[in-house]
Amino acid sequence: MESEITKYLSETIGERLAGSEADRKAAEYIAGKMKELGLEVEYQKFKFVGWEITRKARLELLQPEQKEILTGSLMFSESTPEGGIIGKIKYVGIQYVIPKLFEWPKYAIVDDKGNHLGYILAHIDGPAMNFVLTDMGKDYGCAPYVIVGQEIHTYFQEKLAAGEEISVRMDTAGKHAPSLETQNVIGTLRGSALPDEEIIVCGHYDCGFESHGADDNASGIDAMLRAAKALVEKGGTKKTVKFVAFGAEEYLLYGSYYYAKTLKEQGQLARVKNVINLDMVGSGEFLWVWVAPESFKQQVADALDQSIKGEFDIQWNLELLPASDHWPFFEEGVPSVHLIFWPYEYLHQEHDSYDKIEVDKIEKAAKATTAIAERLAGVS
Ligand SMILES: [Zn+2]
Repeated sequence: MESEITKYLSETIGERLAGSEADRKAAEYIAGKMKELGLEVEYQKFKFVGWEITRKARLELLQPEQKEILTGSLMFSESTPEGGIIGKIKYVGIQYVIPKLFEWPKYAIVDDKGNHLGYILAHIDGPAMNFVLTDMGKDYGCAPYVIVGQEIHTYFQEKLAAGEEISVRMDTAGKHAPSLETQNVIGTLRGSALPDEEIIVCGHYDCGFESHGADDNASGIDAMLRAAKALVEKGGTKKTVKFVAFGAEEYLLYGSYYYAKTLKEQGQLARVKNVINLDMVGSGEFLWVWVAPESFKQQVADALDQSIKGEFDIQWNLELLPASDHWPFFEEGVPSVHLIFWPYEYLHQEHDSYDKIEVDKIEKAAKATTAIAERLAGVS
C-alpha cells in the first residue's frame, strides 16, 4: 500500500527544514490538498530565529582505542574552537531534555585542570540523532554539546566502571540564522451549528535537519488530511474544525506557540475547545495516547473503542509533555490529546525515510482522529 502524501513530502520534497525552500514547497502542497477538499485555506506567516550547522558534530575516540563515533548535532549548542576540544570523559548525571520522555545521561569532556570543555548527551533509546537544545541552552549552560547513541553510552559505562580512562576529541559548530520566515497552513471546515466553537486537528510539516521527516511528521500531516477528507465526506460538523499544519515545530514548537499566542492576544483563544495532535503515526510498536486533563480521557477512549478497537496495543499517558504542538494550547488550559506510535528508532536521522512507513498505521490514526473529532465537534 502506498501513501501519496507521506511519499511526496518525504521523498519528492525531502528534508523540510523550517524556513527553507523545501519547507515553503511543503506548505504549498498541503494548502493545495486542503483546497481540493473544499476547506477555506489561509497561511499564517511568521518569522523566527533558526540555526545553521557550520561544522557537523564529530566525536573521535582517542583512548583506550582510536575510532570515529557516530554523533549528532544539537541546534543552539555553543561551538568548539576549530580543531575541536580534547579531554577525558566523566559522567556527570542526567540531562532532563524533555522530562519523562527524554532523560539522557550526560558526560563532560574535562581538561587537565578539571574544567568542563563540553558535553556529550546519550540518546538511550536508539542511535545518535540530531536534536535541539530544548530551551536554546538556558538549562544546559553555554557549552558545546553533541549526541551519541545508546551503544556508546554502554561502552562509556563499561570502561568507566572498569576504571579505564576515556579521552575524546569533539568538534561542532553552528550559528543563529536570524529572520527566517515560515508559516502555519490552516484549513477550516466551518461548523454548521456552532461555528464559533473550534476543534483543532493538527500536526507539524517541518522536520529536523538531514532527515526526510517521513514518520516525523509527514505521517501526521497525512493522517490529518485523511481525517479532513472523512469529515468533509460525512457532510461536515456542528462546531468548526481547523486543520492546522504547523511550521517550525522542530524549533521549540515555534509555529504552534505563534498560533496560540496570536489567538490569545486577540482574545480568541477561548474559541478553541480541544486539540487533537498527530506527530509520528507511521511506524512504532504501540499507539501511545497522551491525554489531559484526565476528565477528557473518556471521550477519547469511547472514540477509540468505536473506531480502532483491538487493532493495536494502546497505552495511555494521562499527562501531556512539552514534546509537540498540543503543548502551547494545553498550557493555556485547552483539553488536548496527542497520538503517536512509539517507539521509533530512526527519530531525527537521515534514516527516517519513506521505506519505514506502514501506511496501515497512518490510516488507523486517521480513523481514530476522525472518530475523536466527530465526537467533539458533532456531526452535522
Ligand atoms: Zn515531530
